[in-house]
Amino acid sequence: MTETYLYTTEKTKEISLNVWCVFPAVYNFGMSALGYLTVSKYIDSIDGIFVERIFNDTEKTYIRQESVDIMTFSLSFELDYLGVLAILEKYKIPFLAKDRDETSPLLYAGGPVVSANPEPFAEIFDFIAIGDAEPNIKQIFETLRDNKEKTKQEKLEILSKIAGVYVPSLKKEDYKVKKVASKLDLCVSTPILTEQSFFSNTFIIEVERGCPQSCAFCLTSYINTPVRFCPYEEIIEQIELGLKYTNKLALLGALICAHPRIDDICQYIIDKVESGMELEVTVSSLRADYVSDKTLEMLHKCGQRTATIAVEGGSERLRKVVNKHLTKDDILGIVDKMVKHGFTGLKMYGIIGLPTETYEDLDAFVDLCKEIKQKYKGFVLTPSFSTFVPKAQTPFQFAKREETKILEKKNEYIKKEFAKIGIKARTSSVKWDYIQTLLSRGGRELTPYLIDVYKQGGNIGAFKSVYKEYEKNGDFINSDEYVLNAKKLDEELPWDFIEYPRSKDFLKSEYTRLISL
Ligand code: SF4
Repeated sequence: MTETYLYTTEKTKEISLNVWCVFPAVYNFGMSALGYLTVSKYIDSIDGIFVERIFNDTEKTYIRQESVDIMTFSLSFELDYLGVLAILEKYKIPFLAKDRDETSPLLYAGGPVVSANPEPFAEIFDFIAIGDAEPNIKQIFETLRDNKEKTKQEKLEILSKIAGVYVPSLKKEDYKVKKVASKLDLCVSTPILTEQSFFSNTFIIEVERGCPQSCAFCLTSYINTPVRFCPYEEIIEQIELGLKYTNKLALLGALICAHPRIDDICQYIIDKVESGMELEVTVSSLRADYVSDKTLEMLHKCGQRTATIAVEGGSERLRKVVNKHLTKDDILGIVDKMVKHGFTGLKMYGIIGLPTETYEDLDAFVDLCKEIKQKYKGFVLTPSFSTFVPKAQTPFQFAKREETKILEKKNEYIKKEFAKIGIKARTSSVKWDYIQTLLSRGGRELTPYLIDVYKQGGNIGAFKSVYKEYEKNGDFINSDEYVLNAKKLDEELPWDFIEYPRSKDFLKSEYTRLISL
């Protein structure tokens, strides 16, 4: 693999700590994951520490397994836990922290999934980062480096005193962990480029973190508080750095168009193109009521002919319920602007099964697309739907999820209705979304079940067959209780011990307000 490092490190101390930085999937996915690569860079920049990146398809390691002191894991999706167990099995490391002795490395996890609700996976890891990596990663690894000779227990006790570090084995009644957040005064960008990455040779720049919109189902918005914007000068500096190595840039953020200087950033890129530089620039999904002409102009000049917006609910009523104040005129307005700028198509994301949804809301989605199709001949619409997954730490953490059969029927309905107007709609797997909900709202009692599912292949069939075995033995609670039922507002939830700036009382009042709209 050819890799280009865009950063250098100066090590003055002798290496005393060996770290495997693990991405629980294959190399080309890991090398496009900005969060994972950034964490590996942060650790690599600490004196006296040697870091090796490990993936599920890594064949040969540089550090011998018996010399590894720490293994870090980045979890972006609930089902990444399967990749974690695959790595542990490959290196014959016991799955549960309590079964690992002093000869095993310490296992550390971070990422949005464990920051929201670490409990279904808590017994696998020795310690877990809650929130952003920047505020404490240096302190964590310097502490581990300087206390290498201490016992596992002693190390965990020291780590538990660092803000944002959760040590599951030390959790007692009244245990609290406060989520930590970076100021984002320095811009995060791709530290290592490779052609073998999923986004081949693409230099990714994080323009902002979080989203001011606060849609009630959105984990990204609720766990990334407060919203932070990278300084303009920093972004420009990063663009210049990236352009020394590649002509492919990606601007990343939940809502990049909310950046107060997005037009200036786009103009900077436009000037490059107009002076003869060939550039490919992509952005994460746009929001119809925020996107500026300048952004569309920049994207078009950089070769983009389609864009993506998340519409979520088909009707304005439903979008209000999810706190997404996006009007039909906003959506038609963005299409109009896109057509004027020479775009030829739009991907639209929707969610099926949102609280209070009716078939009229589904019809409204189809009608909207019909109207666009009739008005803009040849403009290609690609609607794509997933089903509603109530996520911990959001107002909709309390919401019920509709039964699988009902959601499958709605999926079929929407595909059929779109087919009638000559549009192919894509839908997600309702069964996988069910499992995602189970993992999002589960507690520690799920861990043995999740491990047994992995042992039986980790597919939908394994989730079902292990579930049946547990049911037969009478030692497993009904998974529908986690997934389908609404949570009582005064119910204690497995993730309540994590303190976010938006408290549980706030989530309760938001939920109550929104579902009564
Ligand atoms: S606009 Fe998008 S990123 Fe922002 S809160 Fe809504 S769904 Fe999340």
